[in-house]
Amino acid sequence: KPLPLHDFIDAELASYKSMSDNHQVAIHNQVAEHVEVTADSTTLTRILRNLVSNAIKYNRPSGEVDISYSENDSYWQLQVADTGIGIAQKDISRLFERFYRADDSRTKQKVSGTGLGLSIVKEMVDAVGGTIDVKSQRGVGATFTVNFPIVKDEDRTTN
Ligand code: ATP
Ligand code: MG
Repeated sequence: KPLPLHDFIDAELASYKSMSDNHQVAIHNQVAEHVEVTADSTTLTRILRNLVSNAIKYNRPSGEVDISYSENDSYWQLQVADTGIGIAQKDISRLFERFYRADDSRTKQKVSGTGLGLSIVKEMVDAVGGTIDVKSQRGVGATFTVNFPIVKDEDRTTN
């Protein structure tokens, strides 16, 4: 059944509030009120939690996080954009590997983590037939984009 994405994200964000307050990062839910998606809420929660917690902890003080939505005929897209430390080009290809952590976050920023979050996100995105990619400029920020396939009614098997 369709999920009201804006409200779903707001409810999620409430549970990260102490984390974003601690980091002095403002999170903006830019998904329009009327948007509904077909998705497994547990999967969506896990994906959001990993991407948003990264966008908070690799941000700068008074930084921002924008969460936005778009769609086309075959995919709906969720984007998490931050104004943080960004990711060096050499790290981008390895980001979704288990235990991989970029040098900047370990040495410069001294943020703790296991390096597992994004590998889990990638597994979940793969499992639903979606894709994930990242664009970043070092020192400016990072944008993670997840594409979820739209399951059309005529593709569903009925009996
Ligand atoms: P955890 O398992 O707690 O999530 P983690 O955050 O280190 O640990 P991942 O979420 O898998 O692990 O991220 C892997 C690495 O990618 C991070 O260590 C960091 O170097 C880099 N990274 C991830 N998201 C961002 C981001 N939004 N901005 C900058 N670097 C990021
Ligand atoms: Mg993480």
